[in-house]
Amino acid sequence: MAFPTETVYGLGARADRPEAVAKIFEAKRRPTFDPLIAHFPSAQAVREWAQMDARSERLAQCFWPGPLTIVLPRLHRGGVPRIPDLVTSGLDTVGVRVPDQPLALALLSDLEFPVAAPSANPFGYVSPTTAQHVREGLGEKVDFVLDGGPCLVGVESTIVDLTSKVARLLRPGGLPREALEEQLGQSLPWDGFRPPVTTEAPGMLESHYSPDVGVEVFESAAELTARAHELAGRCAILSPEGLDAPCLELVVLGQGTAMAVALFATLRRLDRMDTGKILALLPGTEGIGLAVRDRLFRAARSRLGAR
Ligand code: AMP
Ligand code: MG
Repeated sequence: MAFPTETVYGLGARADRPEAVAKIFEAKRRPTFDPLIAHFPSAQAVREWAQMDARSERLAQCFWPGPLTIVLPRLHRGGVPRIPDLVTSGLDTVGVRVPDQPLALALLSDLEFPVAAPSANPFGYVSPTTAQHVREGLGEKVDFVLDGGPCLVGVESTIVDLTSKVARLLRPGGLPREALEEQLGQSLPWDGFRPPVTTEAPGMLESHYSPDVGVEVFESAAELTARAHELAGRCAILSPEGLDAPCLELVVLGQGTAMAVALFATLRRLDRMDTGKILALLPGTEGIGLAVRDRLFRAARSRLGAR
């Protein structure tokens, strides 16, 4: 079933049953080398399935429930991993999270197992932030959609890998990187939006979060405006602030949380309009801006043939 979280809607199945998890991959057409995040009602529940240490306990205390996924070693019972290979793509680690959404927490609290869930959309397309987005994308492929209204964060969770001595940022997301850096006492570099496609974070493919219409990204309003003139205004513009450029539709996303909340719904809406192109002015890297930049880069890069 699909269910709301504060980040995006998830497509969930019991994480301890490979035959259930297989249906997620099938419905999404998601490649199985892309591991899923396991969702829990509390840090206490996580402790029975994954290896927490002092560092993860601290982050859990500070940020759960919330938009933070922690990659930890998985626990075994009787020599068998409690979270099966299909969830982790065969890695001996698992991404775990406690979502901050009342319906999701109520659901998870009623279960004796974690729920594996990626975003509830066809693989590679823009993530869903309403129940209707889920229906539009997956239709009959999903038995049930729990409707919790629009997601309050709007971009996926921040993923941090705590399986080695130096923590690593695997994906910028809803929890600002700065907050994590402060608690960890180390910096978490993000290398210019070109994460490697490796088994470290196999799902971080470049062709994610992409609408069908072409997206182009710009660092400055001047460059974007020049491009809009070149297109004779046959474009939609997405910008953190107002700007003066010819276009069919200007969407001012605003700053901070508001920007993230509106991002995916706006990309979907513009994708349905016949605007030719979407030109996006990139926000700064501070706070949730880093995640929004990342998603815009990926939406743009898919047009270069990665999809
Ligand atoms: P989502 O697409 O939001 O379900 O996020 C899942 C992503 O989390 C994957 O695409 C990976 O990038 C990351 N992930 C999940 N589990 C692991 C893991 N064990 N090790 C590294 N990255 C992981
Ligand atoms: Mg996804």
